[in-house]
Amino acid sequence: MPGVRVKVSFGRSETVGLVLALSDEKERSTAKLKAISAALETRSVIHTTDISLLQWASDYYAHPIGEVIFSALPSLLRQGEPAERRGVEHWRLTCRGARQEPDQLTRAPRQAALLRLLMDHPEGLSASTINERQDNWRPSMRKLAEKEWVVREQRPALLLPAAGARDKAPTLNAEQQAALASLCTGLGHFGVSLLDGVTGSGKTEVYLGLIARVLACGEQALVLVPEIGLTPQLLDRFRRRFPVPMAVLHSGLSDRERLDAWLAARDGEAAIVIGTRSAVFTPLARPGVIILDEEHDASFKQQDGFRYSARDVAVKRAQLENIPVLLGSATPSLETLHNARLGRYSHLRLSERAGNARHPELAVLDVRKQPMNSGLSLALVNAMRRHLDADGQVLLFLNRRGYAPTLLCHDCGWVAKCRRCDAHMTLFAGRKRLRCHHCGSERPADPACPECRGSELRPVGAGTERLEEALQGLFPGIGMVRIDRDTTRRKGAMQALLDSVHDGSARILVGTQMLAKGHHFPEVTLVGMVDVDQGLFSADFRATERMAQLITQVAGRAGRAQRPGQVLIQTHHPDHPLLQRLLREGYAAFAHAALEERRQANLPPFSYLALLRAEAVDGELPLRFLRQARELAEAMQLRGVQLLGPIPAPMERRAGRVRAQLLLQANRRVDLHRLLDPWLQQLETDKLGRKVRWSVDVDPQEMF
Ligand code: ADP
Ligand code: ZN
Ligand code: ZN
Repeated sequence: MPGVRVKVSFGRSETVGLVLALSDEKERSTAKLKAISAALETRSVIHTTDISLLQWASDYYAHPIGEVIFSALPSLLRQGEPAERRGVEHWRLTCRGARQEPDQLTRAPRQAALLRLLMDHPEGLSASTINERQDNWRPSMRKLAEKEWVVREQRPALLLPAAGARDKAPTLNAEQQAALASLCTGLGHFGVSLLDGVTGSGKTEVYLGLIARVLACGEQALVLVPEIGLTPQLLDRFRRRFPVPMAVLHSGLSDRERLDAWLAARDGEAAIVIGTRSAVFTPLARPGVIILDEEHDASFKQQDGFRYSARDVAVKRAQLENIPVLLGSATPSLETLHNARLGRYSHLRLSERAGNARHPELAVLDVRKQPMNSGLSLALVNAMRRHLDADGQVLLFLNRRGYAPTLLCHDCGWVAKCRRCDAHMTLFAGRKRLRCHHCGSERPADPACPECRGSELRPVGAGTERLEEALQGLFPGIGMVRIDRDTTRRKGAMQALLDSVHDGSARILVGTQMLAKGHHFPEVTLVGMVDVDQGLFSADFRATERMAQLITQVAGRAGRAQRPGQVLIQTHHPDHPLLQRLLREGYAAFAHAALEERRQANLPPFSYLALLRAEAVDGELPLRFLRQARELAEAMQLRGVQLLGPIPAPMERRAGRVRAQLLLQANRRVDLHRLLDPWLQQLETDKLGRKVRWSVDVDPQEMF
């Protein structure tokens, strides 16, 4: 039966496979076929629509079906584990344990730490959460269990409704009501809607209203959010609203947690399924709606291996399941806006902030010729003082982590470069270490210049670490947090930092784009964007779109409650047309102009792209392989596809490999796809192709 897992022997081992279809075809040479040695179950592990979706994705993204299935199935199923829920290991305090005094365990600090952790979470913690908080905790936990202070339990991997009072939905404003009414009439059949609402306009409330309707019909809702949007606050909001179990799927789960959550979704036990990118493939027993929040977000596109866009897969899936899909954003992608304009998507707007909050006021700070202190102009520092004196919180945004972008010798001009990439090393950990953000290689910062032996090594430019250091000097005694990938690596860390923002002990927040999205900081009245110039000039045609989205999203963190917000943008290019249009007329006007530029340049969404990338240690091979690929494509004489290149990648050397690319462009999608399939099959058998690493990216988001 299609959808059943089977065992097939390959060489000396056995492999798990999935039956996709049955065939009567007898012609194929049996020598090439393997016998199925056993079926692992009598009932399909996924539904037929799920199989159709995987097939479609494999064809569309020109990626082998085996790998597509591989990324859609939980790993325990791929390993042949039974498709059964087992529950997840949890630990909680007993009554006796709750009466203990951790401070008295002076001789056993690790047991004391565990006891404190569990006291903070009386409902208990899963083993994987404890793993993230404390290393090697099991021996100490065993000791606590022997004293009967803690117990181990197996619990379903579902998030249950919050105990205590439930939140009531607020009364929706007129725009929210109109959007919700339109969405409700769309239930029960396929359709795509764009909920285009400024930051803080109450989009999430509209999602919640729609989900309530779906649940009332006994159907399930699948909610997809960006990687960093899946916060405890968001989950709490859902738990306090709905008296139903939820399955949460994200990259931090253990294999067992993932399988359990996946099965709960498939069997219909989880009424709401919330997850990041790959959750778009989660099977559902009774699908009712798919909601994708922050649809413009880059994390919905997988950038390696099976390079799919969860947004586009969600739209296809909704079509196959015959249900509606809702795409929400304050800064919709140009692709989605284009579809809305053509009338393919219904366009719902929320133009006002919900409640009493007002739009923030945006202004440019011209920093040309201004004295700067670690990237801060005097005008910005003065504005910060004013807002802090008025008891506001200040958020400074700088999309560059580490201490400084590079280290320079003042005597001879040497700069610290990565040995494996065409890139500078970033200075971080104070000034102690150098790290390449492209390949991850790391070394201690040079004590003296390796070229001239000079000792005048200086950090150039500023990253978030240096900014924080400068702010501590400028605002002594004022609570400060820095939120970037370096300070939030441990699981609980992000939450602890956010807590100090919410309880007011931190007054200044410094951060990268991790701060840009989703967070609600009601007391932030000033947002300073320290440096936006890098995004204004880039070889990538999507760079300005991303920059406009980022500025709008970060600006949206200001003045989300009663207090009015102010946004100051430092730049050396105050007259840049993108900035000017964004400031004077807003994102919609920017998007309108940007779409016009794309039309004139015949770039997506007005044409369709695929990128063939190749890389190898031997620098000659990638270009040679791509030239050959180009000749093959030309020999196929398919019309409507333009071949551009091959050319070296914008960062030619990365992680010790030389990289090149060949771009395919077509005005009609069918022309592109007609070429891809036979062409890639030929490349599979190409001799040169075996010596390079190559991959194809359909609808590429990044051009490197
Ligand atoms: P978005 O998802 O567009 O950023 P949210 O739904 O998170 O917006 O709403 C922003 C804030 O406004 C939240 O604190 C939310 O509780 C509040 N809010 C949303 N809709 C209403 C409403 N109709 N009345 C009062 N407050 C609302
Ligand atoms: Zn030097
Ligand atoms: Zn590198």
